[in-house]
Amino acid sequence: MNIQSFFPPRRTLMGPGPSDIHPRVLQALSRPTIGHLDPLFIQMMDELKSLLQYAFQTNNEFTIAVSAPGSAGMEACFVNLLEPGDTVIVCRNGVFGERMRENVVRCGANAVLVDNEWGQSVSVDKVEQAIREHPEAKILAFVHAETSTGALSDAEALGRLAKQHGLLTIVDTVTSLGGVPLYVDEWQLDAVYSGSQKCLSCVPGLSPLTFSPAAIEKIKSRKTPVQSWFLDQTLVMGYWSGQQKRSYHHTAPVNTLYALHEALLLLQEESLESSWRRHQQMHQQLRSGLEQLGLTFVVEESERLPQLNTVRIPEGIEDEWVRTYLLHHYNLEIGAGLGQFAGNAWRIGLMGYSARTENIALCLKALEDALAQCQASVPMR
Ligand SMILES: *Cc1c(COP(=O)(O)O)cnc(C)c1O
Repeated sequence: MNIQSFFPPRRTLMGPGPSDIHPRVLQALSRPTIGHLDPLFIQMMDELKSLLQYAFQTNNEFTIAVSAPGSAGMEACFVNLLEPGDTVIVCRNGVFGERMRENVVRCGANAVLVDNEWGQSVSVDKVEQAIREHPEAKILAFVHAETSTGALSDAEALGRLAKQHGLLTIVDTVTSLGGVPLYVDEWQLDAVYSGSQKCLSCVPGLSPLTFSPAAIEKIKSRKTPVQSWFLDQTLVMGYWSGQQKRSYHHTAPVNTLYALHEALLLLQEESLESSWRRHQQMHQQLRSGLEQLGLTFVVEESERLPQLNTVRIPEGIEDEWVRTYLLHHYNLEIGAGLGQFAGNAWRIGLMGYSARTENIALCLKALEDALAQCQASVPMR
């Protein structure tokens, strides 16, 4: 076998993540690797922490990036905050809410489910009812931006409700961070995780994570040790904290952290508010083009995520054929439907650096072409 260096094609990424990477982020990745306990690297990590605090809009001292993808950030929240026997209210309106339930069960805790239809946001009323019916519940877990459906939930109202009833919150902001308004402190959210490869437009493999003082208190008062050594955040705290002498926990993914530093710097240069506005504007552009092609949205307008557009696949159009056509003829990736939406919806991402006018123009042209090809080859029934 003659194996040579791998040169990927240059694709335009308009799926559910990873999103297009800004050239400055790719450059940052290729800078020289230094030791992860090098004083200059530690300085860079301190800056990274303050950039993350800005992105999350928090002053939480514990704000880090887990050295693993978003799923590890999710797991870190559950394994640290839950103890066997705890009751957790889990909101499920898509794939990622179901994954939260899995995490609760694997921690030996009890999940009380609040279900909403796929494509709808979490019902605050239903959550309130569940809290009243389960006064023993200690934690409320929900997904802010459900990437499997494209629905945005009201994290502010859910955070407020949880506080009124003395519950801590675990919040998935993997797709929301940088794309739609998120105010961790103002909304009183407790354990919040995200991912590097969605609206932050960094390479995959890191999970920004922040814990409120109340979350830290819950972790410190645990009666049982966290079952995962790697994700036990009490062990990681020393590694990320600026004051104490940094001790070895694991080897940080040095270059990937340079990339996140650069991606967050880009976000700060643009400003969060401008980034949120840009995602909304690009969504409106894409939306009017898609509607002109006769495509309809799965999620109601008021609950729609600008950065993830789920559209129904028209009758008689072959899902996989179209996506393959876009990939081969336009070097363009859009997302397939997930779970209930597999085969009947597409997910078109406008995340971070992907949320640009030229991407939208390409996507609309490519889809128009692909749909015309389908209609020409499929006989009318
Ligand atoms: C992508 C995603 C995850 C998982 O992140 P990975 O980096 O793929 O592990 C979790 N939650 C939501 C809402 C996501 O969109």
